[in-house]
Amino acid sequence: MRVLTGIQPSGDLHIGNYFGSIKAMIESQNDHEVFAFIANYHAMSSLSDGERLSRLTMQAATDFLALGMDPQKSTFWVQSDVKEVLELYWVLSGFTPMGLLERAHSYKDKVAKGIASNHSLFSYPVLMAADILLFGSEVIPVGKDQIQHVEIARDIAVKFNNQYGDLFVLPEFRVDENVATVPGIDGQKMSKSYGNTIPIFSEEKIQSKIIKKIVTEAVPMEEPKEYENCNVYNIAKLFLDYEECAALQERYKKGGEGHGHFKLYTHDVIWEYFRPYRERRAYFEAHQDEVREILNLGAAKASATAAPIIDKVRSVTGIRY
Ligand code: ATP
Ligand code: MG
Repeated sequence: MRVLTGIQPSGDLHIGNYFGSIKAMIESQNDHEVFAFIANYHAMSSLSDGERLSRLTMQAATDFLALGMDPQKSTFWVQSDVKEVLELYWVLSGFTPMGLLERAHSYKDKVAKGIASNHSLFSYPVLMAADILLFGSEVIPVGKDQIQHVEIARDIAVKFNNQYGDLFVLPEFRVDENVATVPGIDGQKMSKSYGNTIPIFSEEKIQSKIIKKIVTEAVPMEEPKEYENCNVYNIAKLFLDYEECAALQERYKKGGEGHGHFKLYTHDVIWEYFRPYRERRAYFEAHQDEVREILNLGAAKASATAAPIIDKVRSVTGIRY
């Protein structure tokens, strides 16, 4: 089964990205054909600082490798290194009704949050459809926010196939219900562009400061506390097994501890969880040439997969003359 994942280098990768997508992707490398890319063209829809984009692209690649992306088993590249994706994006634009894009929640949410609307933000799902269809992807593991985008890709593929024959594989989304939406420190969906994230890799002091800012209900220290809707609990539980979760719930129910205590605990749990990955990251950070070489080889592999597909597209659409 071919599984595809992309992540935008639009900011520091955060634990929402990790539990919503990276973790499952890393784990599926043994059983599936994993295609993973750094979506730098997508990031341009919300970022217009060249130095920052190029730096964040290398940073995301370094993070991925640290988290267990295995370039031997999987195909791992930077989106802009396989330019055919832009060609397909244009071809697919002709199969994308305006209404389909106008209904996209993610676009509407971003605009509602004050992110400047522009055509690339609006047509983002078409580029995402190109990402998916160019590589014959079957399954797209996503957070809940991206389900609709995969459905749009499928709709576009169906329209194209109806016109030109069954050229594209129809993709399906896969969501891990336990972590469909990781809350940010303000309780809204954790998003790079909302400035409410807990980065996977940051300095310990910075992480601890961020966790202290998680929004909680004001309840006196001695009183029992609700854990179900508590942002601290809902973040901590991602890192805990069944028994650890139960123990934490008990502490909430018992009272006598404030949210400050739960935050300290949460910080420690997160810090320990990523410790081995931090060590691997230090290696790749010190060997950026190796990271670049991995990306180059990955782009060559991805191009080879895309070649027969784009070739057929050129043929059936008459672009080849
Ligand atoms: P941006 O704010 O720029 O859209 P983002 O933080 O939402 O960035 P994306 O690059 O859009 O991150 O998404 C990468 C992957 O992470 C997607 O599969 C997405 O579904 C998943 N993801 C993002 N945020 C969360 C979250 N809060 N909970 C679960 N999954 C998430
Ligand atoms: Mg997003």
